Amino acid sequence: MLIISQAEVAQLLPMPACIDVMAEALASLARGDAALPLRTIMAVPKTENFFAAMPGYVEINGEGVFGAKLVTVFPGNHGTAFDSHQGAVLIFDSEHGGVAAMLDGTAITSTRTAAVSGVATRALAREDASTLAILGAGVQANTHLRAMCAVRDIRRVRVWSRTFENAQTLAEAARRDFGVDAIATRTGLEAVQDADIVCATTSSNDPVLYGDWVKPGTHINAVGVSQPHARELDSDIVKKSRLYVDRRESALKEPGDILVPLRDGVIGPDHIIGEIGEVVAGKAPGRRDANEITLFKSLGLAIEDLAAGKYVYEEAVKAGIGTRVELGGARVAAH
Ligand code: NDP
Repeated sequence: MLIISQAEVAQLLPMPACIDVMAEALASLARGDAALPLRTIMAVPKTENFFAAMPGYVEINGEGVFGAKLVTVFPGNHGTAFDSHQGAVLIFDSEHGGVAAMLDGTAITSTRTAAVSGVATRALAREDASTLAILGAGVQANTHLRAMCAVRDIRRVRVWSRTFENAQTLAEAARRDFGVDAIATRTGLEAVQDADIVCATTSSNDPVLYGDWVKPGTHINAVGVSQPHARELDSDIVKKSRLYVDRRESALKEPGDILVPLRDGVIGPDHIIGEIGEVVAGKAPGRRDANEITLFKSLGLAIEDLAAGKYVYEEAVKAGIGTRVELGGARVAAH
């Protein structure tokens, strides 16, 4: 099998290509060309950490790929040299069922999550959206900056994070890498109030984005927290938005962002307009006018990891990148 490291994945998975691969994977899910059991999440006993097993199957341009991501979430890694999400994506060979490739899960997760928000933004944000607010300044905030600049002509970036210095660092990266007018703000409201696109990318368990902050016509990507007790969004913003998700079944089971307003009777299950893949596949309506607020709640799906993994694997084989090791394969003769 081929092992593809974090640096190699980063090299082989540019954001614009990943956005196109995610659009195809999500449309494939909407067409029924995917299998996606709910992920199993285990709290690691006596810690604040999680381990998740995410199996799936998806067809990309008519070719199936199956396997799983095995991933840990270690929130305490924040501020260290390690990303909070660690793990591996395993891709299996469709002919005999052996492991074909093992790819670094950190790099795939950070890029594919922002690329999925890129798909949602391309489908739902106003064409003329040019002011971006980012809440949070961690791994996802950084990749979301790249994804948003790939799908809209972003001119202004406003960054708020719990730690002001981190917001300043990201604003500086936006000025340096994209030549935009970028500043850090002291409050979330200052970042959000004039924004056309808002990306909520924090690990906060309590709301960091409120309905009365957001102007008409805004598109929101909410990617943080996926546990029932935690949420980044207040109920008001969920209620006043046209709500899209990556997958209905997960959205009605995992995130407090949706479960709390559902429990409080603020919204009903039919408040979800559609899955983002249904919009891409033309099976669900998108934005109807320039004043609607659209909201994409992202939870992260195994098919995204597998589709990104398949793309990287094929690019690695073409370029002769990666390390081959013996694992599984044909039976070894008894001796
Ligand atoms: P990082 O650890 O890199 O960054 C976390 C960010 O959240 C930092 O900006 C930090 O602020 C901020 N933060 C942490 N705690 C709080 C709090 N109590 N209040 C306000 N802000 C807080 O994490 P990632 O970027 O990797 O992940 C961000 C979120 O996205 C996580 O919840 C993660 O689970 C989720 N995620 C979702 C995925 C999906 O598919 N939908 C995939 C991957 C991640 P500061 O450092 O400035 O203090």
